[in-house]
Amino acid sequence: MSRTETLLTHKGVPVPAITGWSVEQETTPPLIQRGFGIGFADAVLDAQARDSWQVLWRLWTLGRSKGEPDFKAVHPLRQRRAARDMLCQMCGGPAQDEKRGTLFVLGSDADSGLGAIRQGEITSEPPLHPECAVEAVTRCPHLRKGYVAARVEWPVPWGVRGTVYDLTELWPQPRREQENVGYGSDARRFVLADRILIELHGCRTVDLDEEVRRAQS
Ligand SMILES: [Zn+2]
Repeated sequence: MSRTETLLTHKGVPVPAITGWSVEQETTPPLIQRGFGIGFADAVLDAQARDSWQVLWRLWTLGRSKGEPDFKAVHPLRQRRAARDMLCQMCGGPAQDEKRGTLFVLGSDADSGLGAIRQGEITSEPPLHPECAVEAVTRCPHLRKGYVAARVEWPVPWGVRGTVYDLTELWPQPRREQENVGYGSDARRFVLADRILIELHGCRTVDLDEEVRRAQS
């Protein structure tokens, strides 16, 4: 069985592992000041909502494959798991390749553009298997406009993308522009995270068709 035959489908269309579904709802409670930063009033929920860097995350229910997929929505928890643990964003399987470098495919909105993924590029895109990447670049409108693929030796967590609050504006929650906040920044105490961001080092541009041929041989 080929890798892409394991993809979850809805009405015959493969649905990426990180895509949100209609039954999945945000359950983030109101924010309070907790120490020198933001938090939730419920201490247990607050602890559960934090990652290894103590950054607070938006809470969503889990209901993958229930209802309808929303291809524009990314589930924060599944994105975080995939990007942190190097799981394929399409099939959800382990995608780390220590020998050749882990495969990343970025669209035309990447900071480095479409020439090549630059060293130190920061992205929210989890990795892909070569065959899953072909499926993604064929179907995803964002990648159909153009993409660049690279094998990455050292993908490391950099920070998060989310909404940064100041302590005087905790409720009602303002929906401001999202910002990138590094794990080394003091702003990590004031951000409600939606995505983990990965920094890519040791990038080597590759041809996707060639990667698929290698994977299948
Ligand atoms: Zn995959």
